Amino acid sequence: MRLVLMGPPGAGKGTQAVNIAAHYDIPHISTGEIFRANVGQGTELGVKANAYMQKGEYVPDEITNAMVADRLAQADAANGFLLDGYPRTLDQVGELDMILESLGTSLDYALEITANTDEVVARLLQRAKEQGRADDTEDVIRRRMEVYAEQTEPLIAVYNDKGILLKVDGMGSVEEVGARILAALGA
Ligand code: AMP
Repeated sequence: MRLVLMGPPGAGKGTQAVNIAAHYDIPHISTGEIFRANVGQGTELGVKANAYMQKGEYVPDEITNAMVADRLAQADAANGFLLDGYPRTLDQVGELDMILESLGTSLDYALEITANTDEVVARLLQRAKEQGRADDTEDVIRRRMEVYAEQTEPLIAVYNDKGILLKVDGMGSVEEVGARILAALGA
């Protein structure tokens, strides 16, 4: 199973990704998590990425693409993977196609988790209280939603045109949404 997970910030991608990855026994590759780990360790990549993340902006494509190319070339991704939070720009879509082509493979599905804006903002504010993520303040959340609408939402049409888009309603309990996802994937 080679899968990308899409949907606005707060739609529950990270939570659902853990379940999907366990179900198919594939690595869960979250670009946001990799960036946060690098920020935490103070690496050069982390310092660069943090300047964008703090403002709710996307990290530049050349930095993100190189990181994903490295990660997908690792042995544990050879038989499948779940990408969470990548691709987010049209450039990244093209780059992912090239990376996979060079590895002799291609995507099976792009799975979109849909959610309404008020609900996701409320969820993110709640997460801010629980996890204290640096980019979960109200201003930054609003900026992340705008950036998603401008730069990432158009990708859904691209995957629809490729014929690999699956849409799942992200409203409801974690278990309900998880069951819908596995059903959509035909698991
Ligand atoms: P996430 O955990 O997926 O919400 O990502 C947190 C932040 O990391 C985003 O707001 C971006 O600043 C950065 N980021 C994660 N994935 C990407 C990506 N594919 N392209 C650019 N920036 C990204």
